[in-house]
Amino acid sequence: MPEYCKLYINGWTDSTSGETFKSLNPATEEVIVILQKGNAEDVNKAVDVAEKTFDSWSETPAPKRGSDVQEAIDIFEYMAGEGRRLFGHTTPSELKNKFCMTVRRPIGVVGIITPWNFPIAIPAWKLAPALVCGNTVIWKPSSDTPLCAVELVKILEKAGVPKGVVSLITGPAEPAGTEIVKHKKILGISFTGSRDTGLWITQNAGIKKIGLELGGKNGVIVMPDADMKLALDGIIWGAFGTTGQRCTAASRVILHEEVKKQLEDALRKRATALRLGSGLDANTDVGPLINKAAVEKSERYTKIGQEEGAKLLCGGERLKGKGFFFEPTIFTDVSMDMRIAKEEIFGPVLSLISVSSLDEAIEAMNSVEYGLSSSIYTNDIKAAFKAIEKIQAGITYVNSSTTGAETHLPFGGVKQTGNGTREAGILGIDEFSEVKTVYIDYSGKLQRAQIDTE
Ligand code: NAP
Repeated sequence: MPEYCKLYINGWTDSTSGETFKSLNPATEEVIVILQKGNAEDVNKAVDVAEKTFDSWSETPAPKRGSDVQEAIDIFEYMAGEGRRLFGHTTPSELKNKFCMTVRRPIGVVGIITPWNFPIAIPAWKLAPALVCGNTVIWKPSSDTPLCAVELVKILEKAGVPKGVVSLITGPAEPAGTEIVKHKKILGISFTGSRDTGLWITQNAGIKKIGLELGGKNGVIVMPDADMKLALDGIIWGAFGTTGQRCTAASRVILHEEVKKQLEDALRKRATALRLGSGLDANTDVGPLINKAAVEKSERYTKIGQEEGAKLLCGGERLKGKGFFFEPTIFTDVSMDMRIAKEEIFGPVLSLISVSSLDEAIEAMNSVEYGLSSSIYTNDIKAAFKAIEKIQAGITYVNSSTTGAETHLPFGGVKQTGNGTREAGILGIDEFSEVKTVYIDYSGKLQRAQIDTE
């Protein structure tokens, strides 16, 4: 019997419409949970509750707000500590007997909209700073992974986060997500997902504080002097480790022509040896894609790659039988102008692009409209530093794969990957707080800044 889950608005509750939807196990296509379809009325109820709870939550001292959420994962631990800092600045005034400082204030009611990949980590990266900063939250998780959201809310509840501070609205993007985006009383939106949805949000949210963490087309440069075994391990892990369904997954390898043949052979051998299976099986190397549409997308791009003239080294087929499985797929002889080299596929499809110099490699790396993660394998310190300086990406790894973010460092991208916000690390609180500037004049007379004279 599949589990049955409710919305969380001031406690667990059914949706106003009473409508439900199902979530499937992608490895077996079995229904694992039945959930409530939240609609605009549910979002409104959640906003009312969040507004009512805002005063008491935002007035709770920040160190206390931190300890309330400390039960959850790394980022909760990190952000819980942030509750003891939430630093502002002090600075001298240009006038006598005047004190100047900045303090951080919560935004108010914020909307959090999250994707299905990393269905616990990404919400935690948003919820922890949002709560520590004193906001109340309306959260709409992906319809592909709603059960993880229900479990995380149960943890928050168990950790003592008061009712009304976090509301969970499960249900499809339209209307649950769109209502959150457009709602006038929701003053901030933190979104992680595809570029197209991010664009829609910027065009429809109105004037709000918006944080966007969007797609990527991450590349790995391999120079001839690199440790090839290390590069190989990093590419296989980065491209296929999470079936390519990671915003930082490697989807392009920009390899020096001197090592082209060697890497092509080694990558084909390694990719075809990977074992596909359920993510719950410890022997699995590559799990299923999230749903049927994702399999069809990988299939479609395989066809596009072949039509564009790229050479299929291995893979390219979906597995027969139950589950959303697609073979690890590698194309070589890919050029920068091909769609498989430019567009996010979000599946186990890797493109090899060959170049003849570091400058050309960097040009290829920067030729896409995204800029999330990047990596270079080299033992030449000059090449490494040049890559760090020139690559247009929010993250650059040296001699490591494109994945592996740590919670105390900022995470985010440039160009079409986002709008400049960063999650995690100390910068993670910027997205969820406003800065108030405070002037305290203790001169006892009217002082006018800049034009005042003694
Ligand atoms: P998505 O289709 O954009 O959906 C993300 C979330 O937005 C889901 O909860 C979805 O709801 C909701 N949504 C869709 N349209 C909406 C709208 N018009 N208004 C409000 N909400 C809306 O993305 P996805 O397929 O779940 O996730 C994969 C994408 O996320 C990839 O592009 C990946 O690169 C990106 N990603 C980026 C990062 C990063 O940090 N940069 C991290 C992880 C993933 P439904 O599920 O109900 O449709």
